[in-house]
Amino acid sequence: MNSQPQRLKAKWILPVDRPPIENGLIEIVDGIITTVRVAEPHEAATDLGDVAILPGLVNAHTHLEFSLVEQPFQPALPFADWIQSLVAYRRQFMPTSTEPCVALNIGAIESLMSGTTLLGEIATNVWDELFMPTHGPRIVAFRELIGLRPPNIEQQIEIAVEWLARKSELVPVTYGLSPHAPYSISPELLQRSVELSKRFDAPVAMHLAETREELEFLGHGRGPFVEMLKSFDAWPEEGLSTGRRPLNILRALADAPRALVVHGNYLAEDEIEFIAARPQMSVVFCPRTHEFFGHEPHPWRQLLAKGANVALGTDGRGSNPDLSLWKELVFLRERFSDVAPSKLLELGTRAGAQALGCEHDCGTITPGKRADLVAVSLGDGDPLEELMTTDSRIVRTLCGGKVG
Ligand SMILES: [Zn+2]
Repeated sequence: MNSQPQRLKAKWILPVDRPPIENGLIEIVDGIITTVRVAEPHEAATDLGDVAILPGLVNAHTHLEFSLVEQPFQPALPFADWIQSLVAYRRQFMPTSTEPCVALNIGAIESLMSGTTLLGEIATNVWDELFMPTHGPRIVAFRELIGLRPPNIEQQIEIAVEWLARKSELVPVTYGLSPHAPYSISPELLQRSVELSKRFDAPVAMHLAETREELEFLGHGRGPFVEMLKSFDAWPEEGLSTGRRPLNILRALADAPRALVVHGNYLAEDEIEFIAARPQMSVVFCPRTHEFFGHEPHPWRQLLAKGANVALGTDGRGSNPDLSLWKELVFLRERFSDVAPSKLLELGTRAGAQALGCEHDCGTITPGKRADLVAVSLGDGDPLEELMTTDSRIVRTLCGGKVG
């Protein structure tokens, strides 16, 4: 281990947990931040120049397996048809095909180049640590589980146990579970997934309250998801319990050590309050994917007003043109000028780290945390106002003090 301190200087440092520091200096020892302060005149340090150094960005929800898709899948609506396109894309690859592996690698590199140092990734059977770049972003890999019928449930639980017992020597990976969505997972599989997450102290991520059709499915057991499941031969003969709503699912998820509610586009008032009252729960808002599907306005500001943790994600390239979390921030800044840029920055960093259970060692530029940092070029003037303009550019990303 090299214990020589590494010093970085920049015009601005935006630590997130305290106000911006002009002419700031960060000292790093063995990949860990040891000091954050104003630089002394003529102090020896690597000068990054007229940039702002931010905590590395956190993309709390993506599907890297779709990283070679050039354009989002069509049609965007109805949603069940979009899923059919996604499944058709997946099915074209043979088990021995290398495309999904390449996609995982390219997607991780694309994320890194756009400033992401921590990823919440949904992993399927093509996923392997081997395909991740060695100096890439850290990854919380949620194994996708799908099953509505009893034989599938047992098989999925076996996969989940094996996944959570995994150890990664090559790249930093934390393992979690992703019971996919209310229309693709039985209440029993959901409950057993949450029990496993408790046993292994693992995080859980689930797509929830994503569409109006999902609410119809939960409440009445009808709508386009029923037809879609029948076409996949995945519909349980005995049917599914009805009279449910996202709140029932939230109650199950609340037992997990850490739970990410992915999308949450159609959360009701009491569901927002339920999440806000539980610090182990977060909502992951995917702004450009939300726009791609033409949803009703997202309740992210109501969630924040109630004190809920809201993280940001890109989702996969099946519904977004790229994997840049930075572009999500620029997109929000353009549309929500009433939200302070410091708040947006917090959503893309600290809040994402909290959602993924990594707030103890990243998400802010704080002594004792990892040197996961990103340098952004910006114009003159107030650095927070200058950030997230369409001209701003990620110029460098460091993971644990190393250039990615
Ligand atoms: Zn997703």
